[in-house]
Amino acid sequence: NVMDEMERLSIEQLVVCQDRASGLRAVIAVHSTKRGPALGGCRMWAYKSEQEAIIDAMRLARGMTYKAAVFGLDYGGGKAVILGNPETDKSEALFKALGRYISYMNGRYITGVDLGTTVTDMDGVGKETMYVTDTTGSIMATDDFTPEMTAYGVYLGMKASAAAAFGSSSLQGRKVAVQGLGKVGMRLCRYLHEAGAELLVADLDGGRVRSAAMAYSADIALPEAIMQEPCDIFAPCAMGGLLNDETIPKLRCAIVAGSANNQLLEEAHGQLLCDRGILYAPDYVINAGGLLITAREIQGGSAGDMMRSVEQIESVLRLVFRYAKSAGIPTNQAANRIAERNIKRA
Ligand code: NAD
Repeated sequence: NVMDEMERLSIEQLVVCQDRASGLRAVIAVHSTKRGPALGGCRMWAYKSEQEAIIDAMRLARGMTYKAAVFGLDYGGGKAVILGNPETDKSEALFKALGRYISYMNGRYITGVDLGTTVTDMDGVGKETMYVTDTTGSIMATDDFTPEMTAYGVYLGMKASAAAAFGSSSLQGRKVAVQGLGKVGMRLCRYLHEAGAELLVADLDGGRVRSAAMAYSADIALPEAIMQEPCDIFAPCAMGGLLNDETIPKLRCAIVAGSANNQLLEEAHGQLLCDRGILYAPDYVINAGGLLITAREIQGGSAGDMMRSVEQIESVLRLVFRYAKSAGIPTNQAANRIAERNIKRA
């Protein structure tokens, strides 16, 4: 039931968009504008049903509010989802139509690239509204800048985690197991190798594994085994939902810190990690590099400003760990509480 879910998630506004001429069918969910305009990208996906698309937009929008709030940014959370196949259903007219809907919202929602959309698509949106990021010419649209900054943020977050778990932020000689060597994972390996960490890596793509072994002297683990390998830090950089009832008891690490979204299958799994004495760096804090640089670029920052902005990840994670320790709660709950406190204070 969409209205019940809207109430349960405290969604401020839901805009359902339908434009027959371009074939646009989309939903824009604004979770909160309490701290400022709702920021969050536009996803395009062949959803199985309208209900699935609406619920996805609302949950993703809520996640964006928390992500912005935990850093104290002057933005709220929103998300647009377009119902359609990103391979076959795109046209400039479709993104222009979305741009018109965003323009009607008059600055309450600012969109950008997300799964299934590209810089070219945002150029289409930008023909109808100024409330769009990641268009041609923006720093965000520079090749691979976002995964580079995401990897940098995860690396800094790992240092904060090491300081909390081992009493030193140095990663020299620490054994880090990286699951997934895509755009973020491979770059993270570079930062870790330069910091003197020992790497153990896994990916479904054998070529990527061989590249990491060559470039960063990484040892190789099987994809199905990497979570159970003994290490200091386990870095999930592939899919979500991997921390669950079945996998958590098998972990042999002191810290989980990686870029993957939605790592905990359920919020309660944060408690399970805590019970096992494993320090968990909440995913939406450690992987916030993309949001931090977007927020900075909207305010007119240079590439250097953006890098400094990503450096907040280290201090905010330290705050999350301190809060969790003093309140005796798991770190994922601590991050949520800090975000909620910042929303209330706005
Ligand atoms: P990607 O698609 O470039 O790379 C993912 C890699 O994981 C691929 O090489 C894939 O082969 C591998 N993989 C998939 N399943 C695996 C498994 N079971 N075991 C081992 N390897 C497996 O993705 P990415 O952009 O590097 O993002 C990685 C994760 O980080 C995703 O969860 C993404 O949502 C999240 N994230 C990415 C960014 C970003 O800037 N790209 C920002 C925030 C969060």
